[in-house]
Amino acid sequence: MKTIGILGSTGSIGTQTLDVVRANGDISVKAIAAGSNIRLLEEQIREFKPAVCGVWDEEKAKDLALRVGDTDTKIVSGMDGLMEIAAMDGYEILVTAVVGMIGIRPTMAAIKSGKDIALANKETLVTAGHLIVPLAREHQVRLLPVDSEHSAIFQCLNGEHGNKIDKILLTASGGPFRGWTRKQMERVQVEDALKHPNWSMGRKITIDSSTMVNKGLEVMEARWLFDVDLDRIQVVVQPKSIIHSMVQFEDGAVMAQLGTPDMKLPIQYALYYPERRPLAGDRLDFWKLTEISFEKPDPENFRGLALAYEAGRAEGSLPVVFNAANEFAVAEFLDRRAGYLEITDMIAEAMAHHTRISHPSLEQVLEAEQETYEFLRRRQEKNNFQI
Ligand code: NDP
Ligand code: MG
Repeated sequence: MKTIGILGSTGSIGTQTLDVVRANGDISVKAIAAGSNIRLLEEQIREFKPAVCGVWDEEKAKDLALRVGDTDTKIVSGMDGLMEIAAMDGYEILVTAVVGMIGIRPTMAAIKSGKDIALANKETLVTAGHLIVPLAREHQVRLLPVDSEHSAIFQCLNGEHGNKIDKILLTASGGPFRGWTRKQMERVQVEDALKHPNWSMGRKITIDSSTMVNKGLEVMEARWLFDVDLDRIQVVVQPKSIIHSMVQFEDGAVMAQLGTPDMKLPIQYALYYPERRPLAGDRLDFWKLTEISFEKPDPENFRGLALAYEAGRAEGSLPVVFNAANEFAVAEFLDRRAGYLEITDMIAEAMAHHTRISHPSLEQVLEAEQETYEFLRRRQEKNNFQI
């Protein structure tokens, strides 16, 4: 029996992880956690019988404790709850499927307690990779990528131990506004940006994909997972998301991983690595596909990608500011308090305002996050006042 915990069990990655658990029948879920969706958490508790369940919202946690009083599951709440789940004994792999920097502290706690991390929560690695990667090495735990591109790269690297990577070719669909100019994007509404051409995902990452900020985060994520300089990570637009990413080696050979867009494959691969398990679902039909096309990314109109390279090259606290500004700006856009193009405007303004720290401690990472929020809150107050 494999044993796992899932942070973010009610989300897109979380529920698909539970689909993988159901389909395989030999994984025991020891802990789950989510933000506030206690209706779904109750169903998950009754089906998977975890020892512990975390709810971020304290009132909702009390409510859930009453509802599942007849079960053996202990209910915990807030950051203490996430930390308890991360550090507890009794399971081997923590699937980090929460959104945003909230995942940093629990991920570090899980590593310290010797658990492997199946990592979906890319914001954590982007902002604290300089702390997490050495910590994982120190505790000899594995960071198993769940993000489809990084899983693809991980699969391409199988059996290549000791061989140097010349280039990572990170594929991107280009999102719903591929080929558009900034002028055309001025009037984009929340509903337009939530329509991804190939993948069905949580709201925040869907917006990130439309702005190409997601690809920028993935460039930085790849840098930490595979220890490759940013200059060796090249984004290639491949609109149908059939090639999930590629690795070019020193002899010029390019390895690619292809498949239909289905997150269950990278999730299952991370949980069973290095074993491949059967997985039901669509298969690629090359006669229907007929061709795979490629395009250059457009960092002028998709400023998020250019800013991500800038932040990633600067390292230190700048990736924190890039990410925190994006988290703030996307929430503002989703709440209709900011326009679409303001997402990347806010990232640029926050980065320009910030005084960079070269090797931030965990406390300094969290401080830089709060400073960024504060700076952008003031910006928003000023702008709303002017209207
Ligand atoms: P969703 O928004 O679908 O799910 C987020 C999950 O996190 C939910 O279970 C939510 O609970 C929970 N959550 C939110 N806030 C907290 C909190 N404070 N404490 C505990 N739990 C919390 O996101 P996705 O599944 O799409 O994405 C998760 C991560 O995986 C992101 O980092 C994303 O970038 C990454 N990723 C996602 C992919 C995808 O296909 N979806 C692909 C590659 C990477 P509740 O439901 O109660 O709000
Ligand atoms: Mg991805």
